[in-house]
Amino acid sequence: MIYQIYPRSFADANDDGIGDLRGITGRLDYLRWLGVDALWLNPITPSPNADWGYDVSDYCAVHPDFGTLDDFDELITQTTRRGLRVLLDLVPNHTSDRHPWFEDARSGRRARHRDYYLWADPARDGGPPNNWLSLFGGAAWTLDEASGQYYMHSFLASQPDLNWWNDDVRTAFDDILRFWLDRGIAGFRVDVAAGMIKDRDLRDNPPAAAADHGVVRALGQRQEFNMNRPEVHEVLRRWRALTDRYDGDPVLLGEAYVLDVEQLAAYYGDGRDELHLVFNFLLLHAELDAEELRAILADSEPLDRLEAWPAWVGSNHDAGRLATRWARGDPNRARCAHLLLLTLRGTPVLYYGDELGLPELPIPRETSVDRGRKATQEPGRDGARTPMRWSSGPHGDFTHAAAQPWLPVGDPAAGNVADQARDPSSILHLCRDLLALRRHYPDLHTGPLKLLEEGPSGVLAFRRGERFTLALNLSATPHTVTVPPGRIILSTHRDRDSERVSGSLALDGWSGALIDRQH
Ligand code: BGC
Ligand code: CA
Repeated sequence: MIYQIYPRSFADANDDGIGDLRGITGRLDYLRWLGVDALWLNPITPSPNADWGYDVSDYCAVHPDFGTLDDFDELITQTTRRGLRVLLDLVPNHTSDRHPWFEDARSGRRARHRDYYLWADPARDGGPPNNWLSLFGGAAWTLDEASGQYYMHSFLASQPDLNWWNDDVRTAFDDILRFWLDRGIAGFRVDVAAGMIKDRDLRDNPPAAAADHGVVRALGQRQEFNMNRPEVHEVLRRWRALTDRYDGDPVLLGEAYVLDVEQLAAYYGDGRDELHLVFNFLLLHAELDAEELRAILADSEPLDRLEAWPAWVGSNHDAGRLATRWARGDPNRARCAHLLLLTLRGTPVLYYGDELGLPELPIPRETSVDRGRKATQEPGRDGARTPMRWSSGPHGDFTHAAAQPWLPVGDPAAGNVADQARDPSSILHLCRDLLALRRHYPDLHTGPLKLLEEGPSGVLAFRRGERFTLALNLSATPHTVTVPPGRIILSTHRDRDSERVSGSLALDGWSGALIDRQH
């Protein structure tokens, strides 16, 4: 299991209200206890924080808020000592407009780094060169008055997109990858992994069609020419060749935002020559609805063909918290969601705090610090990035009592590590026990996932390997499900653990059980 840490919000070691690397190092024993295999840290590199680290101004250093390279090396030493691995976030699609490359590039048409970015002359009417849209609203082009050309940005105007047709960009990134791999990291989560290459002719994107995924319809256009271009795979193959030369099998986990399994599978290359793992965001965008989830799980043929190992998430720093978005504030739903996520075949990625069922906090727009969202989009992403709650003490023990946390902590008594660690029926223990089972039983780890015949509507059930069956009632109505006989090894509410099951299982609304045939 990969545990996603938003470094500003995990643990603050120097009492300035901002989480940092030494804070993370200080909490590694908790992660070991929970059963984490690897950590993925959101960007830790220097950044003016227009998009909280996703606007990088130096790829080979640590943001002073988070500490120093020495602190980073110490984190690696301490994680290695505990058998944990660290993935960093790599942001190759764009830099900050304050990165020295862009500062040089915008100094004039002949600047050495001009071609590191995507520049184009205005359209005939003086407007943007084409119809591409920024994912954060408005046109994907901003006019640079001084040179009279537009530059392209898939996100904020202060996040100019790099020109990956330029070999110098590719070489520069080879060095960046090596810089961190040489320091002993276990790989990268690759931001916007489908986006680096843009159509050379800058052709207009077609409008979204009625049959497109809701996310595409919301944007209003298919990102046919500024995303998911065939040539992006060259870049990924180059990185795979680079990482394959390192000992310890570093991994590349891609955020390739394509909402179609066939396209997603393409990011695994031939199964061995591109990304090791690609987030399947279809799950994230689905409702916690048995029929919808069943269809997503059934549609795995393109991945199976490549023997590709899936990566699953139910939440992250962009999509919002599992307990709020998926579970709508209902702890029973949150338990079902965890039982599902942690029994799927593939690598689950758990967003820090979701193991406690932390809710998204309402952050009013006036105090919001997230600029990476369309003005119309409520709520922003801050509410899912609030500090971890370690205890019921002041600020949940995230920072010193006298400090001001960078985002509100909420009510720590409503769910925190210390209290839940003492309570075997807590959602934290549910996650921990599930992770221990996954580690212990190969069938739960690598066993094939086979959906059971469609049962009552609202129920999702599948086998894992020969031994295990998961039955989940994702509805408020009690249902009885036909399952192979065995014994419940873990139930969502822990009240039915070790109950014998002989062919059928009655499930209350929003509950589920993992059944072991051999138990
Ligand atoms: C990250 C976002 C970020 C965007 C731009 C992503 O998909 O997950 O948090 O705003 O890339 O870098
Ligand atoms: Ca700090």
